[in-house]
Amino acid sequence: MGCCDTPGLKPIADALTQMLDAVEPCCEQITQPIQSAIGFTLAQAVISPVYVPPFNNSAMDGYAFRAADLNNNTELTLVGKSFAGAPFRGDIPKGGCIRIMTGAPLPEDADSVEMQENTQINGSFIQFQANVRQGQNVRLRGEDITAGQRIFEAGHTLRSRDIPLLASLGIAKVNVYQPLKVAIFSTGDELKHVDQALKEGQIYDSNRYCLNAILSKMNVEVIDFGIIADDPALLKDTFLQANQQADVVITSGGVSVGEADYTKDILEQLGEIGFWKLAIKPGKPFAFGKLSDSVFFGLPGNPVSALVTLTQLALPTMAKMAGAKPTQALRLPAITTHGFKKVPGRTDFQRGIYQVNDDGKLTVSSTGGQGSGVFSGMSQANCFVILEQARGNVAAGETVTIEVFSDYLN
Ligand code: AMP
Ligand code: MG
Repeated sequence: MGCCDTPGLKPIADALTQMLDAVEPCCEQITQPIQSAIGFTLAQAVISPVYVPPFNNSAMDGYAFRAADLNNNTELTLVGKSFAGAPFRGDIPKGGCIRIMTGAPLPEDADSVEMQENTQINGSFIQFQANVRQGQNVRLRGEDITAGQRIFEAGHTLRSRDIPLLASLGIAKVNVYQPLKVAIFSTGDELKHVDQALKEGQIYDSNRYCLNAILSKMNVEVIDFGIIADDPALLKDTFLQANQQADVVITSGGVSVGEADYTKDILEQLGEIGFWKLAIKPGKPFAFGKLSDSVFFGLPGNPVSALVTLTQLALPTMAKMAGAKPTQALRLPAITTHGFKKVPGRTDFQRGIYQVNDDGKLTVSSTGGQGSGVFSGMSQANCFVILEQARGNVAAGETVTIEVFSDYLN
């Protein structure tokens, strides 16, 4: 335990390390055509089978020639043409040049290209300007990628901009991992579906919408078990089904210690689950462990707590299970525009709005109320303001770390 740790509360870094150590990649490999491979994680490195570009070619519409032929001369004889897809065949005699188009193969006897705007046509002669540099306006074979070059490592998750790169290498299919199967449900007697009228003491189930929305941005297969009442038999049955059908089971609610104790009893019967009090705010109550055939994440019921623990703990752990390399959302230093309230002892994930001020500096302000049920702040925010465990109140003008919302949250 470090100097600033709070007895009984697990620091978030320790929780994440413990979770990552407890899981292994678990998804089968499949072959996926590149056009439907966005979001999939590579199971094997991609090695380029070709050179890009595959041949020396012109970067301009103009004329190709040997630079040495212009040493004592400003005029060359036009002897042919090379168009994209229709190369020039033959030799360029001394003092000759050819018309060439962008992307057209550069003949072996030529080493330079002049753009047509810098030339003049005199009958069958082309007049050049004096300052020609050997090799100008030529794109060399393999200058972007060479055959045998490692393009992506295993564990890389393909983004939309990676797909055209694969296409440019003539790679039609890739070996990837199958998506994780993720079962989700909300627990709580007070929860109602969004299209139902609320009676006294009831609230809408928003956490399942949070989970579905975020998971829809990832390449996972979601199995949604809906709302499960705080009923031991029903909960047990749902846990058993979820464990059977999915690699990962994520629930929200019912993990605070002392309350809804039968959730704890059921989970202890079904697997090895740790009920943790995390040294983070929001998100203190959290459960993690293994059922017989799946990994379990028990998120707190409070909506902001559920989102914070999902993004900070569950998603990185699921990424490892899915075979993906760890990634970290962008964290940057920012200057506070006002004071932030903070009690030492837990790491805060406050909701903030960053912007660049008139002096070009990155600043951050709070969205206001930071209660773990105040979800409107999550919608207004564009970043988390991460205030370290040992830190107390923050004054205006101090530097804090912000975590810019990743793609999952946008
Ligand atoms: P719990 O963790 O079950 O004690 O719930 C903590 C708080 O979160 C309570 O105010 C619950 O009503 C609320 N809550 C639990 N589940 C949800 C949910 N699915 N959507 C919105 N709020 C919830
Ligand atoms: Mg509850």
